[in-house]
Amino acid sequence: MAEVLAVGPYAERDIKALREQFAAPHLAGPELIADLPEAERAKVVALAFLGHKGLGSQVMDLLPNLRFITNFGVGFDAIDIPAATARGITVTNTPDVLNDDVADLALALLIADSRRMNAAERWMREGHWAKGPEYPLQRKMSGRKVGVLGLGRIGREIADRLAAFKCEIHYFSRSEKQTPGWHWHTDPVALASAVDDMVIAVVGGPETEGLVSAEVIAALGPDGVIVNIARGSVIDEEALIDALQNGRLRGAGLDVFRGEPAPDPRILALENATILPHVGSATLETRAAMGELQRRNLRDLLDGKPAVTPVN
Ligand code: NAP
Repeated sequence: MAEVLAVGPYAERDIKALREQFAAPHLAGPELIADLPEAERAKVVALAFLGHKGLGSQVMDLLPNLRFITNFGVGFDAIDIPAATARGITVTNTPDVLNDDVADLALALLIADSRRMNAAERWMREGHWAKGPEYPLQRKMSGRKVGVLGLGRIGREIADRLAAFKCEIHYFSRSEKQTPGWHWHTDPVALASAVDDMVIAVVGGPETEGLVSAEVIAALGPDGVIVNIARGSVIDEEALIDALQNGRLRGAGLDVFRGEPAPDPRILALENATILPHVGSATLETRAAMGELQRRNLRDLLDGKPAVTPVN
């Protein structure tokens, strides 16, 4: 076996590139690493990893010579970073190249949910248009007060787009940013109390687990829309479902879920949620750029150079 092992549900073009450039064999998921013979596992120096299945200390311990984990994606909450650091393993990710796509999708979800586009399309396809009264009026999106929870790389692109939609921009971050005219809040409840709608763009993982609590959802109120393009773990999903089922939140636009890829069936049944199968960065152009950045990280690390985009 080669020194690079590709792990995860890669597109064929990335498997091919990893094979051609690094002679990397491919496994569909990290749970299959344990099935490799010990001698093969000992040869692995770098993982080219993709996916949301946990890459924790147990997997790392199966690969005694592992030095690099290059992640395909900016979010690295599936990888146990403290465990990697403790073993001297460098982790990299693929930031920035996906900002536009994810921010575009966040705005699309906010508009789709405000205007109930999915329900209107269903109504038209079912033939109601020619039969009777017009489709019920919906709510305007431009000009609303919108809170961005997490003004990082993607959050900032979302806020820039919201500005073009004449929205009043509020944000929660751990420190104030250089953003004249935008309103900084020091906790998520204060943010939710100040705005009409909220877009979630913080990192996932234990530190932000349940940050969007029942209290945050209640503070948004029955006219509010929540968009989540970050991670399912950031929202108290029980509280979200309860509020949506009982009209205490107008709607939700969700690209990420706790139970991915099989979300809670109650979410699939919600009429007032626009749901997508975690496709924030899923365009041909962006996935190509992510693959290239992952392979640049791999090449540089294997050549003894610093990583382009290190995480730890
Ligand atoms: P980023 O630039 O690192 O921004 C992360 C944001 O999270 C920052 O605003 C940061 O706040 C905040 N944050 C970090 N640790 C925190 C903590 N302990 N408590 C509260 N806030 C914390 O990341 P990014 O590139 O914008 O990506 C953001 C996330 O989007 C990724 O981690 C990923 O999970 C998700 N994502 C989803 C998709 C998709 O397909 N749906 C695609 C790409 C990314 P400060 O400003 O206070 O530092």
